[in-house]
Amino acid sequence: EGRETRLRVVLRVRPLTCTETRRGDRRVVHSLGNGTVHVSADRHDATFGFSAVFDVGASQEAVFEGSGMRELVEMAIDGFSCTVFAFGQTGSGKTYTLMGPLGQSEAPELLGLMQRSFACLLEQSRSHGTGLVLSASYLEIYNEQVRDLLSAVPPRTLPLRWSKARGFYVENQLSVDFESLEAIIELLLQGSQRRRTCAHALNEHSSRSHAVLTVHIRSRAVSVITLQGKPPQPSACPGKQGTLCFVDLAGSERVKDTGSTGELSVEANNINRSLLALGHCISLLAKARGKRTHIPYRDSKLTRLLARSLGGPGVTLMVACISPSSRCLSETLSTLHYASRARRVTTRP
Ligand code: ADP
Ligand code: MG
Repeated sequence: EGRETRLRVVLRVRPLTCTETRRGDRRVVHSLGNGTVHVSADRHDATFGFSAVFDVGASQEAVFEGSGMRELVEMAIDGFSCTVFAFGQTGSGKTYTLMGPLGQSEAPELLGLMQRSFACLLEQSRSHGTGLVLSASYLEIYNEQVRDLLSAVPPRTLPLRWSKARGFYVENQLSVDFESLEAIIELLLQGSQRRRTCAHALNEHSSRSHAVLTVHIRSRAVSVITLQGKPPQPSACPGKQGTLCFVDLAGSERVKDTGSTGELSVEANNINRSLLALGHCISLLAKARGKRTHIPYRDSKLTRLLARSLGGPGVTLMVACISPSSRCLSETLSTLHYASRARRVTTRP
């Protein structure tokens, strides 16, 4: 607590898709074990290290168990603000890693980090004696607007404010209590269906927005203190309040690769702009604390919302997603550089 802690960064390499295999793309990314990957293609030859690397064959369960996600859930129950975010090129497997193939398959082995974390949380809640009070909120940032994914269609636009006590926060956001796994998964499904997605050349169901689902965890303060020789007294300590936040970033993309025009290219520019702002904040945060200048969180809604997770008192897990295909080489290298830089960022939980 209060000590500088590095961001935990793990890498997931998705398998080649049918389309990629059919057109004869080569695999240019290979795991070397021990958290390292090697990229080799014509003029490129580079090795990168992470806390963990999940190669092509890794199951959803292996990613959950090996990424430190379980520990993150436990810390959130303990009152910390925990965040996991997935980033990478469009079609690199971010949504798949977080949620699995949502709605398309009922196979439990394909459930993503989110559903597995919810299950873990509810299991812990049941064994927690007094139980935990759980609620969830779900929003998206679409074209630099914050929209409540739990409100009826069309999602309500919400103001993002700042106060000294709370930092950046979203005003009037709906928060729904839940007590069962079915209930929170239903919220996730409903909200995700309201998200702006669109099919384009790189991905049939590409997310056009950044989505943030936050689970608020309160433990009831009913611990009992027993002093020697005196009857038990209820303690005055307040309950703990933690959060567990999942961020599914819209993918970076080069407009020419996706064939986006008109409205789509406006979206792409907004997506790219906020990812650029995020990249900029990460580069500055990666410098030693003494050498840091002002961090421009205000440059985008996304960076404002992530300020606590990146530079504040949060505990953060980053899941970088890449495609192993030769055709994605330049985006893959940029994701790998971005992710390596993020490993130097520290927070003070
Ligand atoms: P993103 O959210 O990064 O744009 P998606 O998660 O939608 O990308 O993944 C793109 C496509 O690749 C989807 O059809 C998805 O089912 C598939 N895919 C992604 N990761 C994997 C994986 N680890 N195993 C199998 N298929 C995957
Ligand atoms: Mg997605």
